[in-house]
Amino acid sequence: MVYSYLVMKKELMDILVCPVCKGKLTLTVEKENSHEVVSGYLYCAKGDVKYPIIDTIPNLLPPEKHR
Ligand SMILES: [Zn+2]
Repeated sequence: MVYSYLVMKKELMDILVCPVCKGKLTLTVEKENSHEVVSGYLYCAKGDVKYPIIDTIPNLLPPEKHR
């Protein structure tokens, strides 16, 4: 699955998982409009890594530092 081109809507939290460990992600919103998260990050507690959301696009490229 390719997440990189998705706009970050909160409903997506139901289907988004960490691309490395398939664990649950926690959404932290820094800025949002009525439908989308504009900036913030998705956090994988298992791997202790953050996936940034920049201009509504979640960057779920697997990081190197995942535990
Ligand atoms: Zn993970």
